[in-house]
Amino acid sequence: MNEYTKPVPFPDNVTEKFWAAAREKRLLIQKCNDCGALQFLAQSQCRGCLGEGLEWIEASGRGKVYSYTVVHRAPTARFEEDVPYVVALIDLEEGVRMMSAVVGIEPEAVRVDMPVEVVFDEITSTISLPKFRPI
Ligand code: ZN
Repeated sequence: MNEYTKPVPFPDNVTEKFWAAAREKRLLIQKCNDCGALQFLAQSQCRGCLGEGLEWIEASGRGKVYSYTVVHRAPTARFEEDVPYVVALIDLEEGVRMMSAVVGIEPEAVRVDMPVEVVFDEITSTISLPKFRPI
């Protein structure tokens, strides 16, 4: 594997389980045991009720493209080899929305409401990034 030169997530005490699961190709989201709400991004409190009784549940990994943009100008030189690429908001089946990349398809072929499933891009020995591809 070539050395990865783009920004890499740093797991902390809130997100370490998410990243450990991603390493095993499992997509986790948080569930609040106080009000039942689901959420992503991971936080130490529920965004709905501020409860701290959060647990991790495994998402199906399936969802739909809510919206997207095609990036043609690399934000930094490290992304120049990637353009054009798709940054999208993905609505997971469970009802939470996450920002990610859509891969495995020409950028101009991506559509709103397109069904997608998670894939994991192993960027370092400890971090795998969840991305999405068409089903
Ligand atoms: Zn809650």
